[in-house]
Amino acid sequence: METGYFQNPRRFPKNAEGPFYTTGHRSCGDDLMNGKTGWFGDCLACEAPELEAPELLAVLDNENSDTYFVRQPSTQDEIDEACSAASVCCVAALRYGGRDRTIISKLGNDPGLCDYIIDDRGNLVATLDEEGNLLPFAVRLIEIQRSEWRKRNKKWYQFWL
Ligand code: SF4
Repeated sequence: METGYFQNPRRFPKNAEGPFYTTGHRSCGDDLMNGKTGWFGDCLACEAPELEAPELLAVLDNENSDTYFVRQPSTQDEIDEACSAASVCCVAALRYGGRDRTIISKLGNDPGLCDYIIDDRGNLVATLDEEGNLLPFAVRLIEIQRSEWRKRNKKWYQFWL
């Protein structure tokens, strides 16, 4: 696996070095009012990502409610597991910051999951600005991808989709 990857300032600090990571945020608003400070992971503790990649993500227990990578995938099976874990997170808090085109393709070339995607000419383009915010083109692309997914997968009774 390649070593260069995007250094997202929203990367949850507990993640092991490497391109797969989870996002988080510093304490703010309600956190501070409740006396909580420090970092908080964006993916909470439903265990869906952990079930997809149990060897790669921290165990959830009484001591830990944060989702983060304790190590990076090193085999193809583990890369598949990391991609599956990213795909099941409902808030897209597991991301891939690397430039491996095979992995980016496996993740659907989705700016919601990848810090770089492959454009129409085959070039890699960044999806985030230096503060970790999705760039406007990436937001638009996500909207289009979700709209197409809904059209493909909607049931006959889901007239509102
Ligand atoms: S996968 Fe979704 S529901 Fe589960 S903990 Fe992460 S954000 Fe919450």
